Amino acid sequence: MRTLFLFGASALALSAPMTDTLAKTAAPAAKAPAASDNPLLAKWTGPFEGVPPWDKMQPSLFPAAFAAAMAETRAEIHKIRDNPAPATFANVNEAMQLAGQTMNRLFSLWGVQVSNESNAEVQAIDKEWSPKLAGFFDEFNLDPKLFQRHKDVYDKRASLKLTPAQLRIVERDYEGFVRRGALLDPAAKAQVTQMNQDLSAAFSDFSAKVLADEETWIVVDKKEDLAGLPDSFVASLKQAAEERKLPGKWAIVNTRSSVDPFLDASTNRALREKVWRAFVNRGDNGDANDTNATIVKILKLRADRAKLLGFKNHAWYRMDDTMAKDPAKAMDLMMRVWGPAVARVKEEVADMQAIADREGAKITIEPWDYGFYSEKVRKAKYDLDAAEIKPYLELNNIMQGAFYAAGRLYDLDFKENTGAVPVFDPNVRTFVVTDKRDGSNVGLFYFDGYARSGKRSGAWMTTYRSQQGLGGEQNVLASNNNNFVKGGAGEPTLITLDDATTLFHEFGHAIHYFLQDVYYPALGETPRDFVEYPSQVNENWLLTRDVLDKYARHYKTGEPMPQALVDKIEKSSTFNQGYSTVAYLSSAIVDMKLHDRAAPVTDPDAFEKATLAELGMPKEMVMRHRLPQFNHLFADDGYSAGYYSYLWSETMDADTWAAFEEAGSPWDKPTADKFRKVLLSTGNQTDRAEAYRAFRGRDPDVKALLKKRGFPTD
Ligand SMILES: [Zn+2]
Repeated sequence: MRTLFLFGASALALSAPMTDTLAKTAAPAAKAPAASDNPLLAKWTGPFEGVPPWDKMQPSLFPAAFAAAMAETRAEIHKIRDNPAPATFANVNEAMQLAGQTMNRLFSLWGVQVSNESNAEVQAIDKEWSPKLAGFFDEFNLDPKLFQRHKDVYDKRASLKLTPAQLRIVERDYEGFVRRGALLDPAAKAQVTQMNQDLSAAFSDFSAKVLADEETWIVVDKKEDLAGLPDSFVASLKQAAEERKLPGKWAIVNTRSSVDPFLDASTNRALREKVWRAFVNRGDNGDANDTNATIVKILKLRADRAKLLGFKNHAWYRMDDTMAKDPAKAMDLMMRVWGPAVARVKEEVADMQAIADREGAKITIEPWDYGFYSEKVRKAKYDLDAAEIKPYLELNNIMQGAFYAAGRLYDLDFKENTGAVPVFDPNVRTFVVTDKRDGSNVGLFYFDGYARSGKRSGAWMTTYRSQQGLGGEQNVLASNNNNFVKGGAGEPTLITLDDATTLFHEFGHAIHYFLQDVYYPALGETPRDFVEYPSQVNENWLLTRDVLDKYARHYKTGEPMPQALVDKIEKSSTFNQGYSTVAYLSSAIVDMKLHDRAAPVTDPDAFEKATLAELGMPKEMVMRHRLPQFNHLFADDGYSAGYYSYLWSETMDADTWAAFEEAGSPWDKPTADKFRKVLLSTGNQTDRAEAYRAFRGRDPDVKALLKKRGFPTD
């Protein structure tokens, strides 16, 4: 997963990063007196055109900084709005892209504070300020005079001799204002503002509750209850217990990175069930952290807002600026894959049941058995043991492998400079990124790899500053954030094949931003259903022979992965695809059905259950994210009616990988060059479907995806 700004700043052009040149032109008058020495507001200093002052970040500094940045941004925007000169592209659309630099910097810091370094104080500030900031953005989104300035340019756009990029910005700016309610009467505008603020508060509430449930743990007292678990994992459980002041015990923290490896390997079925139940019931326990009522509130607000804004429902509203546009198009793609995926799950369950029967286990496969028995199937069918792979997947080596692939394909070079710039946690590492072709500076890569308390679960990528040409070329500050479980003291961090894939995935997002070459920041961000495409494509290079040979080396002996093991991994590449496809798709389909309907759902649990029954969800598994913990949908508007985006992007991903295969090599330089030039570096400068056609000569073909997952293609 990936998040950018937390407050829907994209609603305005305020997601534009800072430039040194234009920060100087910002209105100086608006700063509150107390703000002048607030380090969070200062222009970033140091190398790379300035880096975030992580060493000075403290939660208590944010409220005053928000107030000051709001005042400054307001002054900048009012200057644009109240300019007596006739509206032009330069004094409206371009000027807006250069406003709000202080706020952008502050949001970069706040994003990290909330996602990577949260605690009760941060949550309280978030709760108080999220609605205020939402209201602040609506102030401009719904400002009639500011809209009129944009409309003036829009109305005369044909006669302004604009470049195609400028014309695209003028039209998108205008449409964005309309979509957010600029054409409504004042009373309706006030309602939209209130709804956005209420939603913001509900999102904060939701995230805090889920995080609270993820910070619980199950204690293991007896060593025999750890049977089957690899030593390195047991060591991490011991450390987790020590951190929680439980010396001599083991703690299974309620996050995916602890729960999944436990379910895959533990021979204690009763404990597996207990751990599984705790995890799938996050946010759904009828206690103070239960999220169902919060979800109901969010759904009602979304439905009302969509109606007020003139959309059929929330799904249509959210999909207005996407590649798919129509919920039915997204549903069609999902349902095309659903049938074959469910059929594959049935085969997978039959394979597992056969093994259980043969072993005389006298059980029927339940969801808490899926990981455990699928590992047995993997061993039996492919003679492949996840534990056999892990010693070859040492975190640092795999990172180097990701760097190597980016260097060979896209000429990016990464050199570690940890210690040279401030970081927000001692474990964060930094790397200087340059363009190998001429040695020019591209930016800085921050890597926050390990799980810790106060850090949200999962993996995501952010940019603290993006590339843009307007106002002076600026280099990129991008981060990857993972939740790898750190090896015990003195031990290397060994990761699973899934973890390594996630690392390549998030790194693919970073590559996308490092390669960006756009002039106008307004054309930098790609549509949501394109966003996961560069990251998913990048996963493919992990299992190339060159990367494995050079970087998948045994952590003790340094030996490369034996060919026999590589062959087994390749042979088993479609293994368990039924499970992962159905886990994902069930979440994506429930999301779309939840948001593409007339009346808002009032009982999320019942809706989830009924929808899954109607779909024919296999009873041996659950959604990857059940509604009560579905951060993609309820921690912000982000992926609501948008979880399908991963499949949409993956369709392009599989079809793009096929282009490399057709060219004869994953390292085929002309294909990589074309991919970079047409799709990766161009931001959103042109319609992304057109760009894809320019790359491939046609629309993406879903058959490549079905084939990749090992499903029948007819
Ligand atoms: Zn992603």
